[in-house]
Amino acid sequence: MTGSDQILPRRTAVPVRIGDVVVGGGHPVVVQSMTNTDTADVAATVDQVAALAAAGSEVVRITVDRDEAAAAVPHIRDRLDAMGVSVPLVGDFHYIGHRLLTNHPACAEALAKYRINPGNVGFREKRDRQFGTMIEMALKYDRPVRIGVNWGSLDQDLQARLMDENAVLPSPRTAAEVTREALVLSAVGSALRAEEMGLGRDRIILSCKVSDVQSLIAVYRALAARSDHALHLGLTEAGMGSKGIVASTAALAVLLQEGIGDTIRVSLTPQPGGDRTEEVVVAQQILQVMGIRSFAPMVAACPGCGRTTSTYFQELAGQIQDYIRARMPVWRQERPGVELMNVAVMGCIVNGPGESKHADIGISLPGTGEEPAAPVFIDGRKAMTLRGPGIAEAFQTIVEDYVTARYARAADAPADHAHTPDPAPTVAADGR
Ligand code: SF4
Repeated sequence: MTGSDQILPRRTAVPVRIGDVVVGGGHPVVVQSMTNTDTADVAATVDQVAALAAAGSEVVRITVDRDEAAAAVPHIRDRLDAMGVSVPLVGDFHYIGHRLLTNHPACAEALAKYRINPGNVGFREKRDRQFGTMIEMALKYDRPVRIGVNWGSLDQDLQARLMDENAVLPSPRTAAEVTREALVLSAVGSALRAEEMGLGRDRIILSCKVSDVQSLIAVYRALAARSDHALHLGLTEAGMGSKGIVASTAALAVLLQEGIGDTIRVSLTPQPGGDRTEEVVVAQQILQVMGIRSFAPMVAACPGCGRTTSTYFQELAGQIQDYIRARMPVWRQERPGVELMNVAVMGCIVNGPGESKHADIGISLPGTGEEPAAPVFIDGRKAMTLRGPGIAEAFQTIVEDYVTARYARAADAPADHAHTPDPAPTVAADGR
């Protein structure tokens, strides 16, 4: 099933523009990410933002935690612009955002959105004043904000008040339920305050991040029911490796299936020295496997079994995946629609030909003891059989030729072609 075959009903949210990107209002779910560099280190931050953008991050958030970081932001923006990287930058502020935005107007100007955590802007009257200053900055520079509540930094006064009120109820709710209510109230109440100060609903995105899957689902269902603001979805502190990916996928999939979520971030903890762009790839894959958006051709590969005693088929599947990923920056520009392509790499004759026929291009490799021949299927029909050494290279050439033939160059394509499958493939099913 391709992304265009399945249309999930989406919650209607007020659209919010972040630079050239629109979140909510029926626009495609936006993938975003966050750097882990010291923002004061301009070169390192520029490199990572560029890498995240190249991987497909449509918005990138950077930490703005002190004067040096705020002073660096306009230089980061300038360098990215000079490189042709236009991805909007979001400033992540805690504790002293009001002061940094006030004292660094070039930073306020360079950022496309400000993230405010209402639990981290001071206490009592100071909190109100400092939160108000940040909203004034958003009004002054005509920028949207994300009011991002996090249960690790939940407004303690609000939570204490709700706990007290709950304690005298005839049937008190659990502490977890009260905490969830406090998260939602903090976000919705802060949004109301910002609106009362004059910030339009089309300038406000909400998030309520927790690190527990069931709590996240419950909180976002409540948030979605009680507001029409665009929602930023993400499981915070998801963790490392497969645990982080599985936990994020489990939580986000349930909510996205219910039409909740206008922009997503997958908060993975990278291995030391690991690739930060993994969180972008995972976010894209969640959306793609759910049929919500397509970003890159899908490579379906069988898991292998006792019939694939050599590693040849895993290597070929990996090579094809890497090849497609490496070619995507060019294809994305030149070959709109290629992101809907399906490629199958199968390990033997049991399911290989059948699965390959369902893909746009499929190859069925010989299993252990089978004749050393690899039939290739194009658009459901057997097109040729590859034999001998060099099968991987030959198959890459076939994939490249297929893309060239099937997906019209961007200049020739209709303006709205980007997410529309080509109904009439021009590649012959045989004779290659
Ligand atoms: S297609 Fe063949 S090699 Fe792959 S899992 Fe099935 S039986 Fe095993």
